[in-house]
Amino acid sequence: MKRRIGVYGGTFDPVHRGHLSVARAVLENFSLNELLLVPAFVPPHKRGREISSSHHRYAMLALATRYEPQMRISTIELDAPARPYTFETMASLQAAHAPHAEADLFFVMGMDSFREVTLWREYETLLMNYGIIVAARPGNDNDEEARGKHLSPALQARVIDLRGAQRPTEEQLATPHIFVTDYVAVDVSATAIRAAVEAEQSIDNFVPSVIAEYVRKYALYRD
Ligand code: ATP
Repeated sequence: MKRRIGVYGGTFDPVHRGHLSVARAVLENFSLNELLLVPAFVPPHKRGREISSSHHRYAMLALATRYEPQMRISTIELDAPARPYTFETMASLQAAHAPHAEADLFFVMGMDSFREVTLWREYETLLMNYGIIVAARPGNDNDEEARGKHLSPALQARVIDLRGAQRPTEEQLATPHIFVTDYVAVDVSATAIRAAVEAEQSIDNFVPSVIAEYVRKYALYRD
């Protein structure tokens, strides 16, 4: 059987229980061999606020995944001389990990990202060439979007609705599809965490304790 590699991109400022629950659920339900977490250089749509340095975001990811043997961090976007778009990152990861198509790559994104994916540079290339795993996110449960109604008919035809905690079949996994999943529902966002820190509230329910300690130690999000 071909290896399967998940790719989970994000700002991870900071990584939180929502990311980690999605990562574990996707590894298990898609029988992935590994999941690469890819912290982004500053993503274009988030230029409005100051983002923690790459080093802090990387360190928090490394701490949060230290006991997760199948999760590894890729610095491919942090190392890139120019800020890469997701479709470029996927092509680079394909070349690095499976140049002869020995493995299939699956890009993981939350429902909020899926909703706005048509704004991403060359999103059709991304959605056509790789498996896509969309994770439900509390507050973003619009049925039309979950069915891909915002996409072209050709892309809509690739959507496989696995909501109701269904697992994909081997046949479905063999060719690129857009899998819409709802394995976990964790109502946490990095924005809410940063706001809680600023308001001097506890973030212990939102992040593993090692991340709460790190945020305190380095006084992150305290403007
Ligand atoms: P921010 O609040 O700063 O926008 P975020 O919490 O959305 O951050 P990101 O690093 O931007 O975190 O997210 C990376 C990816 O993880 C995105 O595709 C996002 O949709 C997804 N994601 C984040 N939190 C959740 C969650 N609680 N459930 C499901 N998906 C999530």
